[in-house]
Amino acid sequence: MTQTTTPARPQRAAKPNGQWKIDGTTPLNANEEMKAADNGLNVRARIEEIYAVQGFDSIDPEDLHGRFRWWGLYTQRAQGIPGGKTATLSPEELEDRYFMLRVRIDGGALTTQQLRVIGGISTDFARDTADFTDRQNIQLHWVDVVDVPEIWRRLESVGLHTTEACGDVPRVILGSPVAGIAAEEIIDPSPVIAEISRRYIGNPEFANLPRKFKTAISGHPSQDVVHEINDIALIGIEHPQLGPGYDLWVGGGLSSNPRLGERLGAFVTQEQAPDVWEGVTSIFRDYGYRRLRNRARLKFLLADWGTEKFRKVLEEEYLGYALPDIGPGPQPATAGDHSGVHPQKDGKFFIGLTAEAGRSSGTTLTALADLLEAHGSTRLRTTPHQKVIALDIAEEQVKDFVGGARTLGLEAYPGLLRRSAIACTGIEYCKLAIVDTKNTTIDAVREIESRLADHNGKLPKALSLHVNGCPNSCARVQTADLGFKGQLITNDAGEQVSGFQVHLGGTLAGFENGEATLGRTVRGLKVAAHELPDYVERVVKNYSALAEDGESFAA
Ligand code: SF4
Repeated sequence: MTQTTTPARPQRAAKPNGQWKIDGTTPLNANEEMKAADNGLNVRARIEEIYAVQGFDSIDPEDLHGRFRWWGLYTQRAQGIPGGKTATLSPEELEDRYFMLRVRIDGGALTTQQLRVIGGISTDFARDTADFTDRQNIQLHWVDVVDVPEIWRRLESVGLHTTEACGDVPRVILGSPVAGIAAEEIIDPSPVIAEISRRYIGNPEFANLPRKFKTAISGHPSQDVVHEINDIALIGIEHPQLGPGYDLWVGGGLSSNPRLGERLGAFVTQEQAPDVWEGVTSIFRDYGYRRLRNRARLKFLLADWGTEKFRKVLEEEYLGYALPDIGPGPQPATAGDHSGVHPQKDGKFFIGLTAEAGRSSGTTLTALADLLEAHGSTRLRTTPHQKVIALDIAEEQVKDFVGGARTLGLEAYPGLLRRSAIACTGIEYCKLAIVDTKNTTIDAVREIESRLADHNGKLPKALSLHVNGCPNSCARVQTADLGFKGQLITNDAGEQVSGFQVHLGGTLAGFENGEATLGRTVRGLKVAAHELPDYVERVVKNYSALAEDGESFAA
């Protein structure tokens, strides 16, 4: 009997991924077409010359839903649109005629003069809104396009801007909020942050990336810039021969397919850092996947290449030299949330203040600027934990300053839950949101604090509580002890209500045992929004009753 063989099928050519260096620059989806047709940075001239003069209705939809982001502008959600099932609504039905405006604050460094300008913009043009974000920005709402040129004029008069605060660009550079002032700092990253910002932010060469690109730079030994969840991180380390410099991490990111960044095992000096940043960002621009937006972050390229190939391409194609090797450094020993009063290396003090769930107002920002100046300071920092830090307070002024800040709703000694609670923008303003976040978090923390006021078991440590309004991860739910991801859930009566999928036991390196862990979802564990205080209270009581000395929540 003769054996028949099935002819081999001709191999199908792999689909192009939209990698510019491999597949060419032909756009493979609508977003890429929009970016190729006109660089997002170019929309500024149209805003100033046309849209701000003729009003909202004159805005080209491609600019409105695409390029406006390159200048920190998003349309905000129309008021009263409930969460879920918004896919059936047209953009016009879902969005307001007002904008969210993100003020970019690289490294979180502000002067009181700058803070007062943001406060004034908020009261004059943004209905007194102001939120501290978890990426060191300050976000305003209710901005009318006709006011945008005047807002830019005021911001830029004091060295602030909104350039590339959103969009497929290098977003705000997270920087250690205690850069240059903390006694235990390994290296001051301020010059690197300033140089990257000067060379590359607003530079058209880096204004069309496959997606957003997040940077974190710190020389402080605490976990103060959440470096494992950024596309690139430069983290202070002491090289045995070369002295202080940076440990290079790449490829972290949350949202879909969350992945912690990885060390390339390469040491970077202060002088090399901007060039290395340029090299890594260029790899992302040139080799990053662009066909599918949900695979367009750097983490997907790193997952396919591995760290060895990534480093080789960086050194051979972009830097033209090899970086020295470096072994892993000591992991950050403490959570860098900066709450409370801490000594600076110059003998003065910095004071970390908590605004409930990052919520503030223009009036408060202006009052804070006044308070700082009345206590001899002109500097402050925002943090990646939705907090603000007052710098340069003399010892004899500390008590009075802390009391003054408290009257503004800014607490130096928050309770252990309040201290670690962060919430994303949520349904008040975000078009993607399913549930409310800010008010839910503020109410839940207040409620739990009052219920646990006479609870005789004490929380062994702060438990982080992060609340997201949708399945994205703007509030980093997978990195929290208790993470809540907004979704509609079905209650016992069969009705759909606002609720959360629960993630438990997330942590970043150094918070606990030196190992970063993403929080796990517990199958079927969902809570309705109104049940959040009951659920958290139960967890807190169980944890404080059962945890042994030093035992982490993640364990
Ligand atoms: Fe909006 Fe979702 Fe991000 Fe919250 S997590 S700000 S709801 S996109």
